[in-house]
Amino acid sequence: MALQHVLHNVYYLPGASNIGLIVGEGNQALLIDTGVGQRSGRQLLQILEERGLKLAAIFNTHGHGDHTGGNAYLVEHTGAKVYAPLYDSIVLQHPAWGSMCVFGGAEPINELSTPRFAPQPCATDVIVTEGEVQIAGVTVQAVPLPGHTGSHTGYIVNDVFFTGDILAGEEELANAPISYAYSITKRLESLQKLRNYFCSYYVLGHGSLERDITELIERNIAQIMDVLHFIWRYLAQAPAEANNLLSAVCEHYKIEMRNIREYYLFYPTLHAYLSHLRNTGQIAYQVKDNRLLWYTVGSEGG
Ligand SMILES: [Zn+2]
Repeated sequence: MALQHVLHNVYYLPGASNIGLIVGEGNQALLIDTGVGQRSGRQLLQILEERGLKLAAIFNTHGHGDHTGGNAYLVEHTGAKVYAPLYDSIVLQHPAWGSMCVFGGAEPINELSTPRFAPQPCATDVIVTEGEVQIAGVTVQAVPLPGHTGSHTGYIVNDVFFTGDILAGEEELANAPISYAYSITKRLESLQKLRNYFCSYYVLGHGSLERDITELIERNIAQIMDVLHFIWRYLAQAPAEANNLLSAVCEHYKIEMRNIREYYLFYPTLHAYLSHLRNTGQIAYQVKDNRLLWYTVGSEGG
């Protein structure tokens, strides 16, 4: 991990998932997310100690294991306070909840008990809601951006916006034609909300540092609309079960699921598309011959 300066007292550590570091009064530091696994926690503590910084707080954008992996280690070794949004704080405290959710609400198979799905549990000290938080002389503006998870939240510090996983970067758009989502309805609303912010820098959860996200926002929205369009057209041909639709979507977008973990990231995402189409009156369902079939009603777009 190599610390990069962004602006004023704001730094970030580029990596598999990006981590924000803000230097406050009295050599106190704040982190935005903590990377993947305990190893990340150890590396972050080393970086802080090398610079004589004391960790005051961790702000989590959401509860996924690739953003919270270092939490437990850092809290244990520094006593830092953890700030997280409500739904994600539940996953932080009870990681099994996250893997249970992707496994259809049942006790998950052991293969889903990986650091990515189930990191070390970590208590949350403060539930973050929209607005400003003052800590160590630093003002952190919490901006709820739900959609990737139920309460996913971005943070603005000194004109640098940490957007978490609501916005896919160039590389993710090129490599993953469908981004993980808890709610497509909320993700679209959050992407539209992002249009109203004009910061000097944007640190995405994954990918490079950005100066202007105007085009990225539109490309993210266009990607979602394209998938909605494909699903609607597929269901307009004949009613289909979710599993058949999942295969068709993968074939169309040339997605190859390589293991069960990828399957269980994609499965809820597909249902986020189905619930958006259903809740906007574009599709309906029927339970027939012990099968749940989805079909189109009305016209595309609701
Ligand atoms: Zn995530």
